[in-house]
Amino acid sequence: MLRRILTPLLITLSALALTLFGAAPATAAPAEQSRPLVRTVLYYDSSQAAEYTSAVASAVDVWNSSVGNVRLEPASSGQHAEIRIVADDGWPRAHLGPVRPGGRVTVWMGRQGTAEGYDAVRIAAHELGHSLGLPDAKPGPCSSLMSGSTGGVNCTNPAPNASERSRVEAAYGSGTAGLRAADGQLLVDRF
Ligand SMILES: [Zn+2]
Repeated sequence: MLRRILTPLLITLSALALTLFGAAPATAAPAEQSRPLVRTVLYYDSSQAAEYTSAVASAVDVWNSSVGNVRLEPASSGQHAEIRIVADDGWPRAHLGPVRPGGRVTVWMGRQGTAEGYDAVRIAAHELGHSLGLPDAKPGPCSSLMSGSTGGVNCTNPAPNASERSRVEAAYGSGTAGLRAADGQLLVDRF
C-alpha cells in the first residue's frame, strides 16, 4: 500500500527536479556548482551621467563579463535603480556597497578626475566596484582596479583583478557570505 503511494510520488518528484534543473549531467563543473541558483540583478540609472554615459556603459560591460553572481542592467524609466550615476564637478566618489536589490547607492562621476587626465572608463569601473562592495586598495598597481589613481595617470585598465573579482563573487554568492549588509560609507577618490 505504502509502495503504491510512494512510487507515483517519486516519479512526480523526479519530473519536478528535471523541470527545475533541466536534464543537465549529474557531474556539473565545480564552477557551476558554486553559482547561486538566482543571480542578483542590480539596475543602474545613468540618465544623469552626462558626458560619462558611454564610459559608464563600458564599465558595466567590464563588470558583467568579469563576475557571474551579480549582473548590472539599465533601469527603465520609472523603475527603481539600485545604482544612480551622476556627473558633477567634484572628485569621483561612491557609497560603499554591496548594494542589494531594493537598496540605493550613488556613484558621482566627478569631473576633477578626468580633468586631471585619469581615464573615464577606469574611474567608472572603480566607482562601480565600490557599489559592489570593494573598498579602495591604495597604493596599488595599475593591474588593480581598486588602486584607483595610485595606478598612475596613464593607467587605463578598467578590469578587476582576480582577488577583486572573487571578493565581489563572494559578496553576491549564496550562503551567509552573500548576506553581508551594505556599508553605505561614502568613499571620496581624491587624487
Ligand atoms: Zn575609490
